[in-house]
Amino acid sequence: MELYGKTLSELEVFAQSEGLPRFSAKQMTDWLYRKHATSLQQMTNLPKAVRQRLSEQHNIGLTPPLKVQQSADGTKKYLFGVDNHFVETAYIPDRERATLCVSSQVGCRMGCEFCATGKQGFQQDLSANQILNQLRSIPEFESISNMVFMGMGEPLNNLDEVLRATEVLTAPWGMGWSPKRITVSTVGLIPPLRRFLAESRCHLAVSLHTPFADERAAMIPAERAFPIADVVAEIRRHDWSGQRRVSFEYTMLHNVNDTPRHIAGLQQLLGGLECRVNLIGLHPTPESHFSPTPTADMIRFRDTLTAHGITTTIRASRGLDISAACGLLSTAEQHKTK
Ligand code: SAH
Ligand code: SF4
Repeated sequence: MELYGKTLSELEVFAQSEGLPRFSAKQMTDWLYRKHATSLQQMTNLPKAVRQRLSEQHNIGLTPPLKVQQSADGTKKYLFGVDNHFVETAYIPDRERATLCVSSQVGCRMGCEFCATGKQGFQQDLSANQILNQLRSIPEFESISNMVFMGMGEPLNNLDEVLRATEVLTAPWGMGWSPKRITVSTVGLIPPLRRFLAESRCHLAVSLHTPFADERAAMIPAERAFPIADVVAEIRRHDWSGQRRVSFEYTMLHNVNDTPRHIAGLQQLLGGLECRVNLIGLHPTPESHFSPTPTADMIRFRDTLTAHGITTTIRASRGLDISAACGLLSTAEQHKTK
């Protein structure tokens, strides 16, 4: 068994099954998440014979990346091997902050039109170990200030493992991060969204891309099962007066979702909700027929929405020279191995 990524309660069950006292689980979380042990042998407050026995069958389970690509702007893209597949992790430094964009699945079931991951189809869920390994096994590990679940996969389609990973990140026995440092992004799957809102304190991002149901269904098939109006109604029911935030991702597609009609639609959908809209420049993918909105039009769209009372920002496009749109690098790698 791989110990990295296990929660305290899972390690308590593990300790019991190994005939160890309950408090040894806490000793293990200290070694794993505070002292950053890389082998079971380093856990020197466990008796030597116990370490020996555990090492024969179990390991910490850290796997270094197979590859790294570095962009001229400092962004890096790591490629990890997961069984026979590949997942991508983006490291995005920005002055005093450094954001890590992690994957939650290999591929994705959602099939969104402009997304390279969606075009791969679904391969498998990542375990909490495989999610956290993307953070722990890169050289920048200790400098990461924020983590976003905006890599490959739909995190709410793998919520158990995502919640395990965020528990390890935020628990006092774990890495002790504030949940404000973590954002989980979703197309808006309502049943797991309810659970995420109830059980987690991490920020939420919803991939919106257009306020209109018919247009959204053409880009995001999940719209048919979970209409955006229902998703927003669910979000409005939650209390956002504390420190937790909700944002809406809006990838700008030229002459598709960047018109005055869309500004009016966004006002109608989001008016009065404490939220932020993040405009994202499209990273063109080989299979999509969309083109990116020019920067000047993006700025105008942002300023008009903000003037209408909807806080809007533009997310700087980073790493365009290193296939930074998630899914592109792993797709290329998959083709090589075929
Ligand atoms: N599955 C989740 C999280 C991963 S995708 C979700 O969809 O929210 C993270 C974000 O990247 C989403 O907002 C998605 O719409 C956006 N995205 C996907 N492909 C893109 C591309 N080619 N260019 C720009 N943004 C893209
Ligand atoms: Fe999946 Fe998100 Fe890509 Fe849609 S945009 S296919 S939900 S990863």
